[in-house]
Amino acid sequence: MRLTDDISFLKGVGPQRAEALQKELAIFTPGQLLLHYPFRYIDKSQITKIKDIQSDQTPVQIIGQFNVVREVGEARAKRLVASFSDDTGTIDLVWFKGAKWAKAAIQLNKTFVVYGKPTEFKGKYNIPHPEMEQYETAGVVSGNELKPVYRTTEKLSSKGLSSNGIAKLTRTALDELKEPILENLSAVVLDRFKLPSRQESIRQIHLPSNATALEAARRRLKFEELFFIQLQLVKQKLLQTKMERGFVFEKVGDIFNEFYSKHLPFELTNAQKRVIKEIRADVGRGYHMNRLIQGDVGSGKTIVALLSAILAIDNGYQTCLMAPTEILAIQHFQSISTLVAPLGLKVVLLTGSTPKSERRIILESLAQGSIHLIIGTHALIEPTVQFQKLGLAIIDEQHRFGVAQRAALWKKATLPPHVLVMTATPIPRTLAMTLYGDLDNSIIDELPPGRKPIQTLHKTDAHRIEVFGFIEKEIAKGRQVYIVYPLIEESEAMDYKDLQDGYESISRRFPLPDYRISIVHGQMKQESRDYEMEQFVKGKTQIMVATTVIEVGVNIPNASVMIIESAERFGLSQLHQLRGRVGRGADQSYCILMTGHKLSSDARTRLQTMVETNDGFKIAEVDLELRGPGDLSGTQQSGLMNLRIADLARDQKILSAAREMALEIIDQDPTLSNPENKPLSDHLQLISQHKSDWSRIS
Ligand code: ADP
Ligand code: MG
Repeated sequence: MRLTDDISFLKGVGPQRAEALQKELAIFTPGQLLLHYPFRYIDKSQITKIKDIQSDQTPVQIIGQFNVVREVGEARAKRLVASFSDDTGTIDLVWFKGAKWAKAAIQLNKTFVVYGKPTEFKGKYNIPHPEMEQYETAGVVSGNELKPVYRTTEKLSSKGLSSNGIAKLTRTALDELKEPILENLSAVVLDRFKLPSRQESIRQIHLPSNATALEAARRRLKFEELFFIQLQLVKQKLLQTKMERGFVFEKVGDIFNEFYSKHLPFELTNAQKRVIKEIRADVGRGYHMNRLIQGDVGSGKTIVALLSAILAIDNGYQTCLMAPTEILAIQHFQSISTLVAPLGLKVVLLTGSTPKSERRIILESLAQGSIHLIIGTHALIEPTVQFQKLGLAIIDEQHRFGVAQRAALWKKATLPPHVLVMTATPIPRTLAMTLYGDLDNSIIDELPPGRKPIQTLHKTDAHRIEVFGFIEKEIAKGRQVYIVYPLIEESEAMDYKDLQDGYESISRRFPLPDYRISIVHGQMKQESRDYEMEQFVKGKTQIMVATTVIEVGVNIPNASVMIIESAERFGLSQLHQLRGRVGRGADQSYCILMTGHKLSSDARTRLQTMVETNDGFKIAEVDLELRGPGDLSGTQQSGLMNLRIADLARDQKILSAAREMALEIIDQDPTLSNPENKPLSDHLQLISQHKSDWSRIS
């Protein structure tokens, strides 16, 4: 049997199983089956006794029997609870979903191996949605210290391809294989990092002989995976920066100088100056600029964008600035128009709601060259938008735009315009390397002077009276307050306070005529939303009760208090974005995170992180660790996150090493034509052909 044979030729796979493997796991060949790595191993030596369960951080493996299975709760809150005992104690296993399946799988008086993450509830531990398997089939008795566990699906399981079934097939494939698994790393790389061969690693990952050999195999396969991603990115970056011609913005011209010396509303921070210098160096050297600017909310990215635009304009080029939402586009347009008013530049706004007649005029003047700077939304990407001479494209809030959209902008000029991407969602360095590995990175890591750091407090519902007292005092000082809720309507199963309830109780505590309250949520008509918002912006209302619709694009310096209700339900980056709505004026600002009493350990970590730091980068690091990269904004579209084995949160060291190595190799041999790099270029070619065969790795 060969790696690229049809999977149905493998012993134990008939047409039905072959079809299921193809449909469910995209496995068409034995080679692809071998790339379906186990996601964990049952370690016979790691059995926890129920009485010893204590932390709710790490998963445990227990062996015992089911005693009682019962369904509790009503309607949506219905769940299956099975009590499970070993000789030291009893613990509840709980299913909120898949109860039917679990009920069918459970057998009383048979020994099971159960695996899951214990959580604490009312001083007792339980395990929600554990994996479970009968002891006999679990392989714990067979003398295998480390038994692989494979991802599978209900459909595959019904065809006998549970984790065990897949393990059996994999073993057959390894036994029957009549050709070697080719090495795809070069000797230099293998040697430098002391990596086992690919053949050996793939064997070990499925049939580990011991923990050490398994660890080495895992390390190698993780390295391989990350290394080839980096190699592609680094190669592409080189192509763009060193080989792709770009417009040259030679001079710092009159408009720039006039603006800089006479109209700059404030002294730039050192970080802003540094980033502008980096941009100037980029656009002056004749190569194509592709630069990412990361800067926390309020760090002053707009002025950097504007100065870059003026640089382009001074050199006879047009600039476009693209924002992800209409609100943000309008905000940019307003603030930039005000800033450049004395310069006589033509700045226009183009969005989906620009009236047709106006749009036509804009498109004409854009093509004919009289517009210097166009600000807008996705509308800018449309093919009808043609420039006379587009020299610079600035994209705000990159993570909401895909690579394809970036590319669409490039097509709008003879040479690709310089690209500046700005993001307010800081990304951990390792993730940036992967997501934006083809971009150069600038960081604005300094806030404008005079800002007082926002004070963040965590309060439980028991302290509500105290918190209301605090709100009262702040309002008495003339400040305004946001109160944000996660939901609009009460969700049946959970005990979260909902917006309406909250609004009513706040109205009772802060009654008319002394207090006025605005309310904004996603289910209101746009007009009434705008009206309520305007009342708050104008200071006619002191309290804004809202859902997260206010997350983006609100700038009200007088609002100095942000109360976030049920804060445990928000993700870290969302909490950070919400907090960024305050702290925009000269006054001391506060963010108060309200929660119930019982909290999961993850939630506790999130809240504590918020209380401890205002640093978006630190927050992003913690977020990555808690959630894994899949949930971070932007990662989904990237397509780079379907990693087989590497974990961007846990394998940062391997990632850094892989990147260093890729940089070194491409630096010495940009086209990978050196014979020693042949395995690398061969493998890259396979990846780029995107063959649906054994070699496809991403
Ligand atoms: P963001 O990076 O979130 O886009 P903005 O560019 O909107 O931030 O800037 C936030 C606020 O800080 C704006 O009101 C802006 O005028 C102000 N600002 C920016 N840079 C400075 C600076 N160097 N000194 C003082 N204020 C600044
Ligand atoms: Mg901004």
